Amino acid sequence: MICSGCKSSIFEGGRTWGHHQLPSPKAEYCLLCGWQGEEARVWMGSNLQAALEKNHLYRWTIHRSPTFRESEVSCTIHFRPDVGRFPQLQNASMKKFHLIGAESVRVNLALDNKLGTESVGPQLDAWLDHCRAAHTGRCAVPESPPWVPKRLVDLSTLAEGRVVIRETKPLPGPRPRFVTLSHCWGGPGGPQMIRLLPGNRDVFTDPARGIQVGQLPRNFQDAVEIARLLEARYIWIDSLCILQDGEEFKTEGQLMHLVYRNSYCNLAAAASRHCEGGLFQERQRTAGFGGDIVETSEKSRFGKGRWRVFPAEYWSDQLLMEPLYRRGWVFQERMLSPRILHFAAGQVFWDCASTTACEVLPDGLPWQLDAASSTERYWRERLQLIEKKQGAAAAAPAPAAPQKFFGSADVSFETFWREAVGNYTACDLTQDTDRLLAVWGVAKLVRDQFRLGNGEEDYGVGLWCSQLAEQLAWRSRDPGKAARSPGLSRLWPSWSWASLVGPIDLQPRSSEPGQFYSATNHEGGAVCFELKAADAPRNGSDDVPRELQTKRLAVRGVFVGVAVLVGEEQRTTVITNEEPNINGGGGGGGGGGGEDAGRPEGGTYAYTLRLQHPADERTEMQSTGVFRAFPDSTSEFVQESNNVQCHLVILTASGNQDQDWGDDPWASEEEEEDQVPGAPAWIHGTGVLVVKADLSKDDDGKDHCQQYRRLGVCNFEGLSSDDFNRLEQSHISDLWLV
Ligand SMILES: [Zn+2]
Ligand SMILES: [Zn+2]
Repeated sequence: MICSGCKSSIFEGGRTWGHHQLPSPKAEYCLLCGWQGEEARVWMGSNLQAALEKNHLYRWTIHRSPTFRESEVSCTIHFRPDVGRFPQLQNASMKKFHLIGAESVRVNLALDNKLGTESVGPQLDAWLDHCRAAHTGRCAVPESPPWVPKRLVDLSTLAEGRVVIRETKPLPGPRPRFVTLSHCWGGPGGPQMIRLLPGNRDVFTDPARGIQVGQLPRNFQDAVEIARLLEARYIWIDSLCILQDGEEFKTEGQLMHLVYRNSYCNLAAAASRHCEGGLFQERQRTAGFGGDIVETSEKSRFGKGRWRVFPAEYWSDQLLMEPLYRRGWVFQERMLSPRILHFAAGQVFWDCASTTACEVLPDGLPWQLDAASSTERYWRERLQLIEKKQGAAAAAPAPAAPQKFFGSADVSFETFWREAVGNYTACDLTQDTDRLLAVWGVAKLVRDQFRLGNGEEDYGVGLWCSQLAEQLAWRSRDPGKAARSPGLSRLWPSWSWASLVGPIDLQPRSSEPGQFYSATNHEGGAVCFELKAADAPRNGSDDVPRELQTKRLAVRGVFVGVAVLVGEEQRTTVITNEEPNINGGGGGGGGGGGEDAGRPEGGTYAYTLRLQHPADERTEMQSTGVFRAFPDSTSEFVQESNNVQCHLVILTASGNQDQDWGDDPWASEEEEEDQVPGAPAWIHGTGVLVVKADLSKDDDGKDHCQQYRRLGVCNFEGLSSDDFNRLEQSHISDLWLV
């Protein structure tokens, strides 16, 4: 139910923006306004009561979403804290809701309070049946997988109240289908997890004995029940199918990606913090389910209609906030499984390469709610295709040269990698130290499948080796909230986005037309990380693959000794009582083009950067260019000093240097007449902002000086090539990024 306050102000006032007063009895809070009370409590402190009684803390605006068909008209409502009046709300949440035509979406709100095979079983069956029958082109999961893990839990003796662990080698007939389980083990002090150990191995694998079902933790019992419902005789559970003696885990752990890739369906105990949490629970919450009906009349801005209201971040809020998905390593399991049933606290979600659905929206999320989930589906589907192609290639003669990952072979990978990292870093709100390990699982698959790793296209700490100089210009999407935690900084170098907590925009890797300069390594070759030799001794970090152990990056580039940031050009979008100009479009992920256009929420943090004269630090260097700086984390900037001083290392520079000005669309006609052919044009490019790193011991015990760590990135434009040449001639320097 939408409350009467929301109804009259938003839906019946005929306006496109306004303030919203929270209903005074809490009981009347609705989907649209209830969360505002929570936010106010967090941010307003002792001023809360007065603020609630007299003032409107939030402003709302509505606009129509762009749409392909008239029948699919939908609207978006934004709520933003009124920071102009309440500066305390600076960091309060903003929220977005979609209004979807009630006829265009099937909604099921008649849900049983108790999750169980009786209540949700038919729906799970229906999703799987539909996927098998209707998604043959995209979700072709073979009935008999091409690969099976070393051991599986056999459920055929379930009627006798026990299960048996079977070695798969001597299994007769075609390879059996198996389901898998993704779950949190739980920390020390929590419930004990049952494990396959040398001491119980004979009993657990003996067909006459096995494990009593009653001995299994809740998660396993529920998973077993669902496996039988899906007509799978076998289930793979890590603690029971890999001998937990340390040794076997080292070899079998490497094959984990194959286990999930070949799973008939992955069961994810998303809401459960430990092994006794269970997949089936009482529905822990129904808040945010959405689907509330609103009817509007001709008088409203929406026109006459029946609408369903949904929170825009449906998938993230309902699913990705669950304990399981706050663990970074589960990213890999989620990405590689062709089909997943997620058991969240509110409802069960279905995911395959074709559809993301949930109990409330059983036919699939409508496109308005599907942006983030569709990126993941796309990724998942691409990974299936790689595998298939690879299977076919194995039978054919090996290709003469290794395939090129980026470049002409499949440009779309570039995009999908960028979007996935963008979405993943945006979703992951915890300060998980293993966020990079999570992406690593997927990167490894992509790299291995393309037979890369020949040095030309290697992967390390979140970036790819080729055209690394371009990638170093990644940008923090929300520097006001982003932070470099000490934990992450110890693990990952500052030039890797993994060192920063907060959403990241990766930059495209294709070099721009007209690019004539790029930073190099100390020998003048392409900038690239050096991976430790495979057999090099590891220093205490056994779990970290060598691809993630690289720390220092050798860079030779134009180095501007002193750069000072002056003033903040633009910060957040100023909220006034004028009708705000909201950029159209969903403001989806990706980014890349433009100066953060279409991102009304965060605003842009752009500082002007002034370069100072190398000989005299007090005089500003006179140069033609406009340099704009984008910090990784504004708090880090403030900590550095009041008047932020740093150094600039130019990464790339482009401009049509050798062409005459006739090609410059900005040059006026008179100017053109003055142009001499071959005269320089304006240069633009990117750079990183760095400060001297603390002198610390490095692994090899050498080269302590010239080590710099990253603070942000910089874009410049309008630099004359004379100025650029001057910089290049006098400022080239060798340094280490750490
Ligand atoms: Zn309301
Ligand atoms: Zn499917």
